[in-house]
Amino acid sequence: MFSFLARVILIVIAITVIRSIFSWVQRFLTSAQHSPPAAQTRTPPQAPQSTALEQDPVCGTYVSVDTSLKRIVKGKVYHFCSEACKDRFTA
Ligand SMILES: [Zn+2]
Repeated sequence: MFSFLARVILIVIAITVIRSIFSWVQRFLTSAQHSPPAAQTRTPPQAPQSTALEQDPVCGTYVSVDTSLKRIVKGKVYHFCSEACKDRFTA
């Protein structure tokens, strides 16, 4: 009787251990599958940024077209270095 109980307990422990190992392996595999694409997500939107510069008509600073504050006046796009310059500008 005792040996039967011990066997049952051993089986239950074994199943628990195997299940935890499986879930650990599964988690490891899924994380391994998920991380490389994330690492591979190439950064073309950032890398080939245009380096075009436009002059801020208020303070004269050259600002990158990508980061400048834009304001369209009479169909012409003006680029500003800051919100202050944008506000000061009157065309
Ligand atoms: Zn400015």
